[in-house]
Amino acid sequence: MKTAVRAQKIKITGLVQGVGFRPFVYRVAVKNAIAGWVENNNEGVSIHAEGSPRQLEQFLADLKVQAPEAASIRDISICEVQEHNYTDFQIQLSHNYSQLVTEVSPDIAVCIACLHDLNQQTHRINYPFINCTNCGPRFTITKALPYDRDQTTMKPFALCPVCKAEYKDLNDRRFHAQPVACRHCGPAYQLQDSQLFTDGKALAELLSPQIEAGKIIALKGLGGFHLICNAHDNNAISRLRQRKARDGKPMAVMVKNIEKAAQYFQLSATEKLQLESWRRPILLLKNKLPLAFEVSRGLNTTGVMLPYMPFHHQLFEKLNVDVLVMTSGNIADEPVIIDDEEAFDKLGKIADLVVGYNRAIHNRVDDSVAFVVNEKTRLIRRSRSFVPAPVQLTIEAESVFAAGAELVNTFAIGKAQQAIISQHIGDLKNAETLVFYEESFKRFSALFRFKPQLAVCDLHPDYLSTRFAHQLGIETLEVQHHHAHIASCMAEHGLDEKVIGIALDGTGLGTNGAIWGGEYFICDLSDFNRQYYFDPVPLPGGDKVTDQPWRTAFAYLYKYFGLSIFIDENAMKLIPDQKDLPLLMQMIDQGINSPLSSGAGRLFDAVAALTGICTQSSFHAEAPMRLEAAIKENCQGKYLFEIEDQIISFRKMFYKILEDMKVGISVGEIAAKFHNTIIVINLKFAKALRKKTGINKVVLSGGSFQNRYLLEHTENLLQKAGFEVFAHQKVPTNDGGISLGQLAIGAKYLQNQIKNK
Ligand SMILES: [Zn+2]
Ligand SMILES: [Zn+2]
Repeated sequence: MKTAVRAQKIKITGLVQGVGFRPFVYRVAVKNAIAGWVENNNEGVSIHAEGSPRQLEQFLADLKVQAPEAASIRDISICEVQEHNYTDFQIQLSHNYSQLVTEVSPDIAVCIACLHDLNQQTHRINYPFINCTNCGPRFTITKALPYDRDQTTMKPFALCPVCKAEYKDLNDRRFHAQPVACRHCGPAYQLQDSQLFTDGKALAELLSPQIEAGKIIALKGLGGFHLICNAHDNNAISRLRQRKARDGKPMAVMVKNIEKAAQYFQLSATEKLQLESWRRPILLLKNKLPLAFEVSRGLNTTGVMLPYMPFHHQLFEKLNVDVLVMTSGNIADEPVIIDDEEAFDKLGKIADLVVGYNRAIHNRVDDSVAFVVNEKTRLIRRSRSFVPAPVQLTIEAESVFAAGAELVNTFAIGKAQQAIISQHIGDLKNAETLVFYEESFKRFSALFRFKPQLAVCDLHPDYLSTRFAHQLGIETLEVQHHHAHIASCMAEHGLDEKVIGIALDGTGLGTNGAIWGGEYFICDLSDFNRQYYFDPVPLPGGDKVTDQPWRTAFAYLYKYFGLSIFIDENAMKLIPDQKDLPLLMQMIDQGINSPLSSGAGRLFDAVAALTGICTQSSFHAEAPMRLEAAIKENCQGKYLFEIEDQIISFRKMFYKILEDMKVGISVGEIAAKFHNTIIVINLKFAKALRKKTGINKVVLSGGSFQNRYLLEHTENLLQKAGFEVFAHQKVPTNDGGISLGQLAIGAKYLQNQIKNK
């Protein structure tokens, strides 16, 4: 007896386009003898499936558990429909259905099967743009949705008959792989003199002796150009630093393979997994074997990634060098260069050779950066291979635009209950970066059919992102910087309730006009209440203190000990030129260009400067980074602090640091004791607020939690005391996460308005 055939309409949403999902559905359908069809549309993937109840059940189960690695299913909805008695299963053309949008796949590192094909397939022997439905460029080449070849920068490359046959063959790994290409029909690398290379091996043979000889190469990557040189060659790196105007900032490296990575760096199981994941982020790892000093200039960690483009692999195959410096191809703080002509022009002045390729990068993305603490991966720059995957929210955020912060900017747009966060944009004060911001906003609006109704921005009126929000001519909502920080971490963890928020950060404008950044809040997504905060100190010279941490150190000492610091030798050593002293004191006394700051970042600056670890800073957050790197391990000591009303005072701590210095206690021990003090402060005030309110959830955010010692021990100590602790993982704890917090607060604001109507 023939079992009755039933028909179901299955809708799948999530990251299901550009990741080989339709061919996967096809294979699973054929395996289970299901008839019908599958199609991509801008709501996700739709399936019409016909079969016996048993077949349908197995089909669905296979869909759920066997999905491609880069896919992620958010929701599957099923309804019974009329059967059409299909005789086979087919993949249909893409459809553009409604105003809803689907997800755009982030870029995916080249897969093992493709690396194998490089040596096997005659039309792709050594072809450096090899890819398949499981790997290759996605967001960086996508201009519009649905994701089809014609809507990407692959459009100018007409498929050759062989590639076309693969593209159309349901059983081929390249079935409907939009960027599919071979050496006969696809993109090619291109040198300055316009020599074209479709043979990556030949190009690697040309470049490797140059790199080994100390030359600098500008090489076009997935989301922009890189500048590369030998990571063992101090002269080459220092030349690169000078030409790029990169001061002292540490440089990221690319390592040949995981075995070599384990030789050069300390690697936990979680870190190994992350390094090898298809997202291939830059991971901050502790050094084991030394590289050239100029790579990280005395810091004990390095940003490390593994090869992710086919050519990266080909290059390392030819090189006698296992580690390359791989820093973004830009000048100073400008956005990374994506255009070949511009690269030949601008990067030609930095690099000895510029290598582009003749496919356009439509969306610029930098490499993403992460670190692992307490066996959890924490993103501190969310860009390549993460963007534009959405962050799921618990409340409706449609039409909310969040402009973000200024220094480490990202913006975010709300679509239904999702936040789509932009790639890392950078410092908006740079004119080119501001153009990148405006252009990306336009692109996201078009790609995701976004029309803003509410613009959320920072309280700081001079942030260029704030001005941009005001220029949109729609309702705006200004949000305090650290409230946005805590809300960002709350949104990431789906929290919509009152929490204890600890924001330790560099700088953000407070509601009282002072600079905040050492904050203990009781807050939710609607409002916040400042309960305790770090003692505000004047910053003589205003913005100058970020480059000259000694100024902040002096301000703390002068505030706490007045003129008596003149008899302390170490305190006096701080000031580079004693002639400046009267003016400095006058500025502080009279409040001239000396804004008050309770920023944790400034406190870290001050201790780094006082101990001589870093008195002048050559890049953002150098002083706190060096202070962390100096920590002596297994040192349990700590300093005393006081509480006056709501203010946490560091008078006793600074007094004792000066004493420690006098008796010759090592800077490593002082650094450890200082960090331990802040960690204990976090515990003490979380406990005080729990006692007062009964709230047991503590949310940590702000740039200072990029300090791994601080994050690790704060989390552990709070957990031991029975708190539920939430810290950032998916979005950065620095200002790159601000946009998500603003968006969540904006969404809540709209929800409250509807309720109050
Ligand atoms: Zn592949
Ligand atoms: Zn071809």
